[in-house]
Amino acid sequence: MASIGSSSSTAAPRVPLMKSPIRYRTGPLDYYPDKTCYCKSNAKAAMWISWSDDNPCRRYMTCARARTGGCKFYEWYDDPITVPFVKQSLIDPRDKVWRIQEENEILHRTVATRQAREVHLLEELCRVKMANQSEGQQRLEEAEMFKGTINNLTKQMEEMNKNCSSSRSRTFVVGLMCVLACVLYFIAA
Ligand SMILES: [Zn+2]
Repeated sequence: MASIGSSSSTAAPRVPLMKSPIRYRTGPLDYYPDKTCYCKSNAKAAMWISWSDDNPCRRYMTCARARTGGCKFYEWYDDPITVPFVKQSLIDPRDKVWRIQEENEILHRTVATRQAREVHLLEELCRVKMANQSEGQQRLEEAEMFKGTINNLTKQMEEMNKNCSSSRSRTFVVGLMCVLACVLYFIAA
C-alpha cells in the first residue's frame, strides 16, 4: 500500500536516463515531497526500485544509511501491482534485459581476455625482436673484428713480401757484383 502519492512531483528535477531500461533507483534522494526515515537527524529516505517477481518496477524507500548502521525504515512508494498481465508484462522485459546484460558481461570478459593475450603476445614479440637485434649487433661487431684482423694480416703479408722482394734484389746485386769481380779478376790475371 502506498503511503505517499506519486502525483505531487511537479518540482522534481529531471533525472538523466540511465543506459539500462531496468533502473534500480531514481537517484536515491531525488524525489519530492521528502520522506524522512527514523534516524534522529530526520534524514531524507532513499528511494529504490524493486524488480522482484512479486513487486516488479515498484518503488520503495529505505534509510539512506541502511548499509552503514542506519535505521530500519522501509516503506513502499507505489501501490502493488494486482493485475497479473501487467506484472508479467514487466517481468518479461526484465528477464530479457538481465539476459542481455549477462551476455554482454561474458562478451566483455572474452574481449578483455583476448586483449590481455594480444598484449602478452606483443610483449613477447618485442622481446624476441630485441634479442634478435642484439644478436645481430653482436655478429656485426664480430664481423668487424674479423675484418680488422684480416686487414692486419694482409698488411703484414704485404710487408713481408716487400721485405722478401728487397732481399732478393740485394742478393741479385751482390751475386752480380761477385760475377763481375770474378770476370775482372780473370781478365786482369
Ligand atoms: Zn535512517
